[in-house]
Amino acid sequence: MKKTKKYMILTLAGILSISCLSSKVLAVDYAADEAYYASLCSGLISPKDENYQICQGYKQYLLNKKYDLEKTQGDLQNKINEVKANIQLLSAQISEFLGRIAELTMNIESLQNQIKKMNENLEVLEVTIQQKEEDIQTKKEYIVARMRSAQYQNTVNPYLDFIMGATNFIDMLNRVSIISQLDKADKNKMDELEKDIQALEENKAEVERQKELIEAQKIDMDRQLEEVETYKNATESLRAEFESQEALLMEQMTQNQSYIDQIAASIPAFTGDIPESSAGFSMVVSGYKSAGTWAYPSGSFHAGMDIAGNVGDPIYAPFNAKIVMTHDGEDTYNSWGQGLFGGGNVVIMVGQVNGRTYALELAHMQKGSVMVSPNQVVSQGQQVGRRGSSGYSTGPHTHIELYDCGNMSIEEAYNQLRSGYYFFRVPLNYSGSCEARGYTPCRLRPENFIPY
Ligand SMILES: [Zn+2]
Repeated sequence: MKKTKKYMILTLAGILSISCLSSKVLAVDYAADEAYYASLCSGLISPKDENYQICQGYKQYLLNKKYDLEKTQGDLQNKINEVKANIQLLSAQISEFLGRIAELTMNIESLQNQIKKMNENLEVLEVTIQQKEEDIQTKKEYIVARMRSAQYQNTVNPYLDFIMGATNFIDMLNRVSIISQLDKADKNKMDELEKDIQALEENKAEVERQKELIEAQKIDMDRQLEEVETYKNATESLRAEFESQEALLMEQMTQNQSYIDQIAASIPAFTGDIPESSAGFSMVVSGYKSAGTWAYPSGSFHAGMDIAGNVGDPIYAPFNAKIVMTHDGEDTYNSWGQGLFGGGNVVIMVGQVNGRTYALELAHMQKGSVMVSPNQVVSQGQQVGRRGSSGYSTGPHTHIELYDCGNMSIEEAYNQLRSGYYFFRVPLNYSGSCEARGYTPCRLRPENFIPY
């Protein structure tokens, strides 16, 4: 039973391998040992290479992987856009809430001021009422006292004895008149006071009624304010949630991008992948020539030309090329003598222009700006980094060094440079120049080839 099963599986595997062989790409499990295939397929591979077929498959495998990651990047970007739209919406709502809060706070303050003023009015009214009541009391006491003094002889008619005590008729009339007038004045005064008090009491009642209304309004607004603040806080925490989602997605995108970059840099390069640049050299970097080839302004030997300009200006590949070496991580300023060959942050590449092979060094780049990796194929005009002042440099510039490799293949030039034949062991003085040497490889004046 077991034997039959094993046999069947073997047959199946046989059929599979036959069907795979018939297709162009070999059925190799690249995922099982990426490091092995990466080292097997490093360098420039020509169609004559025994691993050509396997490396073609590995290249396809990496391209598929890269394609999938790029698709994921697209999905992540869409999600980020959605989250961003939500954040924007919530922010608009929050600013609306904030507006409403400001409005309510202002209204509440105004109501509070009104209530305060009313309380002051009430205090004044109460004092006035109290004073009037005291007036009445005094008046009452005065009348009672006077009445008491008037009735010192007779308890039946308090006025009678006073009237009867008159010495004559005129005096009596006077006395009657005085009493009636006093009575009338007192009564009027009392009435007036009573009326005043009544009016004041009515006034006070009205103020109190208004105060209650305003207090009710204030309570309502306090409640509204609390409600709006609750909404605002809820919206803010929702927004914070979206913001942390956005940060997470961005982090994923950055992570993904670094995978994509890694894959792009590790894609095997074949000699046929680097088409020669038949339109000639193109510009490396903007700026002006601060030092020419063979001699610095000071007179000492200079192996290339310097183009000075701003830190951060983009640096481009002047021809289709394969990146040979790179170095990054040296400080943009004050890293004197550090980095590759003392040139700080450097990119070295090889390529063909109009049937000849050239090698190029670009030095003193900005820290963290190198965008390419060894083995990577770049197109003419593709950005490889940014200008800096790293390594042997007294100010922002790009040092450009160009080598004529003659009929050497890109593969050969690449391999020589990689295997320790730094700059093809061309002497670092005028005798290494093509003018003096008379044969390749030799050092050229870049200003005669590269536009600037
Ligand atoms: Zn220089």
